[in-house]
Amino acid sequence: MTWSNTQPSSPAVTEPAELVSGALDGVLHQFVVEPWFGALVVLLVATAVVRRIPGLVHGRRRRDPQRCFLRADKRLVLQRAGHRCEHHSVFGRRCTATDDLQADHVHPHSRGGATSVDNGQALCPRHNTRKAARVPWDWELRRLAQQRAGYFPPGTSTVVVHH
Ligand SMILES: [Zn+2]
Repeated sequence: MTWSNTQPSSPAVTEPAELVSGALDGVLHQFVVEPWFGALVVLLVATAVVRRIPGLVHGRRRRDPQRCFLRADKRLVLQRAGHRCEHHSVFGRRCTATDDLQADHVHPHSRGGATSVDNGQALCPRHNTRKAARVPWDWELRRLAQQRAGYFPPGTSTVVVHH
């Protein structure tokens, strides 16, 4: 019996490290070939970071033990908003939705926002979902107070009180 020196050539095995470096090369290649790709990535990261800053500034406060608005409070929140969603676009246009409105915490409950009329706003399901638990900027609160002056019943406070 003789040992053969000729081994069947083993199929090329790709190491995981090679796969990672290949993927990285692909990404880096995109940066070089498509400058907009790099700009898009930077923009997405910057947006994600900036959206979290107010939450970091305010920190985590103790949560209001009451998570949901009382029925009477919800009625008040919707009533003073004229039963219309209070979301405003960046150009200041107010959402026209009037169905299935929800009482939302302007300052998120998970961030210590109180479950009270003063911290409430009427939002349609779409804008409530989109807002999620984002902490608003102070300028957003000031803008909301100004906009509310246009549709809140006279004599009603338009100022948002966090807690
Ligand atoms: Zn809306």
